[in-house]
Amino acid sequence: MSWNSIIGQHRVKNILQHAITENKIAHGYCFWGMNGVGKDALALEFAKVVNCIDPLVTNNSIEACESCRSCHQANKLEHPNIKLVFSLPAGKSTDSRDDSPVSRLTDDQIKLIQEQMQLKSENPYHDITIPNASQIRISSIRDVKKSVTMSASQAGRRVVIISNADEMTTEAANAFLKTLEEPHDQVTLILTTARHDTLPQTILSRCQQIYCEPLSDEDITSNLVAKMDVDPSEARLISSFAQGSYAKACEFMDEDMRAMRLDVVDILRSALKRSAYRAELLTKIDKLTGEKDRTRVEMMLMLLMLWLRDCYTYSLTGIDSMIINIDQQETIGKFSGAFEGADYPAAIQAVEEAISHVRRNVQLQLTILTMLITCRRIFLREVA
Ligand SMILES: [Zn+2]
Repeated sequence: MSWNSIIGQHRVKNILQHAITENKIAHGYCFWGMNGVGKDALALEFAKVVNCIDPLVTNNSIEACESCRSCHQANKLEHPNIKLVFSLPAGKSTDSRDDSPVSRLTDDQIKLIQEQMQLKSENPYHDITIPNASQIRISSIRDVKKSVTMSASQAGRRVVIISNADEMTTEAANAFLKTLEEPHDQVTLILTTARHDTLPQTILSRCQQIYCEPLSDEDITSNLVAKMDVDPSEARLISSFAQGSYAKACEFMDEDMRAMRLDVVDILRSALKRSAYRAELLTKIDKLTGEKDRTRVEMMLMLLMLWLRDCYTYSLTGIDSMIINIDQQETIGKFSGAFEGADYPAAIQAVEEAISHVRRNVQLQLTILTMLITCRRIFLREVA
């Protein structure tokens, strides 16, 4: 890890480095922006740099040395000055004041947390996910308070990172506000959130708010190729779906996007058969929705949308290089040739509607069938 390994976010990196070199570090920060753009990565890097024993300083930049003891501890997320707070499962009872947030958790839960921390240390874009953990509770914030008031065991600046701070309960947020209101020397509190509008104004007004923008497709593509060893054309396909989120791109990497795209285009083809299409179509829809995995269905619909957009672009321009599904040039050319003059925007809208229905928990089979019948009407110019 170093500033360089953080994707994009040049403006934020400059703000933070400037604050460190000018000795104008704020007591509280709120890094906000959509999921997966590197807010935690920025916070962790900042924490490492301010604790590094021998940082490399030039005119406008300051880098961690990556070789001192402090840097090693920080990279392993084992630094006594750096605390990463995130949602934990409730445990059996967490109302006792002396409880640490983990004292009531089972061994299995603790093991899971350790595994997640390990993944986070290897990839700061990893989104920590623990079953039944959707709240940052008061016990975690009491723990923060305890750690910032105790004297430090190691020189440097103590940095507390509250990841997905919007998950704090009201009680936890109130307790956090108190900690924020009593600044401690050499302590910085960083909130990261994708939903900063849901945080109390009283907290936000006491933090320096820094917006972290979505990443460019080019940045995501080049990082997938360089760091994850993804094939360039696959990387381009993935990043066009990730919508500026590297974490999302990493999730998509685990799916076989090409196979999914093949399946969904195949279903569209069945829907567009001139005759005797119904039985085949229904069987395929059943197969697609059988596992009731909404995320997967949503992803497939997004793939279909992108594919239709490509067909539309190609039908208008005839230019290969404007296609995102670059490995599908021939098929896309054929499709747009077969349905010349089709109302693509209406078909794309039908897919968009289906996606929003999938998200709103509308029955899957019905949603897909309605969408495909609409597409059929559009492409075959059937009268409703
Ligand atoms: Zn160092």
